Amino acid sequence: MKLYPLFADLAGRTVLVVGGGEVALRKIAALLAAGAAVRVGAPALHPQLAQWAAQGRIRHVPGFFHEDWLERVWLVIAATDDAGTNRQVAAAAGARRIWTNVVDDAALSSVHVPAVVDRAPVQIAISSGGTAPMLVRRLRERLEATLDHALGPLAALLGRYRRRIRARVRDAGARRALYQRALDGPMTAALRRGDGAAAERALRRLLRGGASAPMCGSVALVGAGPGDPGLLTLNALRRLNEADVILYDRLVGRDVLELARRDALRIDVGKRAGERGMPQAAIHALLLEHARAGRRVVRLKGGDPCVFGRGGEELEFLRAHGVPYEVVPGVTAALACAAYAGVPLTHRDHAHVVQFATARGRTTLDALDWRALAAPRRTLALYMGAAELDGIRRQLLAHGRGADTPFALVENGTCADQRVIVGRLDELAALARAHALRPPALLIVGEVAALASRLAWFGAAPITAADFAAAA
Ligand code: SAH
Repeated sequence: MKLYPLFADLAGRTVLVVGGGEVALRKIAALLAAGAAVRVGAPALHPQLAQWAAQGRIRHVPGFFHEDWLERVWLVIAATDDAGTNRQVAAAAGARRIWTNVVDDAALSSVHVPAVVDRAPVQIAISSGGTAPMLVRRLRERLEATLDHALGPLAALLGRYRRRIRARVRDAGARRALYQRALDGPMTAALRRGDGAAAERALRRLLRGGASAPMCGSVALVGAGPGDPGLLTLNALRRLNEADVILYDRLVGRDVLELARRDALRIDVGKRAGERGMPQAAIHALLLEHARAGRRVVRLKGGDPCVFGRGGEELEFLRAHGVPYEVVPGVTAALACAAYAGVPLTHRDHAHVVQFATARGRTTLDALDWRALAAPRRTLALYMGAAELDGIRRQLLAHGRGADTPFALVENGTCADQRVIVGRLDELAALARAHALRPPALLIVGEVAALASRLAWFGAAPITAADFAAAA
């Protein structure tokens, strides 16, 4: 059997809720939000309901269900934990042709209350006709994640301008085009920033004839996190869902790209270690070309886009060329690799400072302030250091770090094939060689690294010097 979906206008209409517990409270809160006049029948009320009754926000009819309670009622919700009472309510209400919902009992209900994604005035109601509540919950979570909170204000704003737009743009096709441009352009971006006034200005500009001007796209600089797609932010997911074009780096996981809009144009601009990827200038040119063509461009980078990712240069370029942009931060490798290796980056007993540095190539290595990096009671997270471990070890020892300082090397952090190697600083390069460490890998140096042996929780157990000795 297929249900007929409806949205009910309950403003000022009497709704009877039978039952006064937690479940009734949830239902009543939603009914009040819809402006219903709530009559609650129950021998006793949940304290919150008792307070609302005392404030006159709802009306309490004490006692056990009686047919009189149905007088002048439009809708009944039976929310008691007594099956007999629920049946009795459903029968009495049905006899009077009053729509009835019995909580968690599809068979007794003549109306079902759907799961709702609320972006009022937009509301999405989901029902499986009582067959699969679990599936419905899952769907609701998905929609909650993908639909951002600008949706409500967006609908409200368009609602206010609907007549004006209709009067100004007579042709239905032209109107559709105008709506498209409005939705994809600065109006929506302004609402996401919570700037209603700017959104309204953008819409007015479009209405004044800006609709024929060439449309300017935008670029979102988005952090994809270190690999595990679960570490994407909701904003990153939303931008990926809307993107027309995605320029991504090598470090962006395949699973992350899977989540992007199917028909987006995907361009691999990846730099591989040791190999040359697309030159930065060529990436800039692509960003500009696609944005100027009016597309929504996502520049997707591993980890956080502005931590050793040249995000800053790209922003400077976009600003210089007048392309609107936004930045969606990501979980950077140091945070993610440490977490997935069981290494707390700070610890009251061991480290009060965390330093992020990059150690790619001789020149970078020589330019670093090793005295600061080697200071005690600090945690050092080194990016791009896999090829320079010997130099790193020498510098840290030369600047006062003890030979027995613990390190943890995290290879392919957060991915299914993550490996963690732990040991003492003086054996850093030797251990990495012995276990054929491959990039991408993150190096953590400091007392906290030793905790990996005890606190590891993800993937294979850490590899230690003892494993090395056993293998030798
Ligand atoms: N913007 C990125 C860093 C880019 S530099 C971020 O915020 O994470 C690339 C370096 O990041 C790699 O050489 C490696 O040191 C580190 N890295 C990135 N992803 C990693 C991963 N999954 N596991 C280990 N290291 C990683």
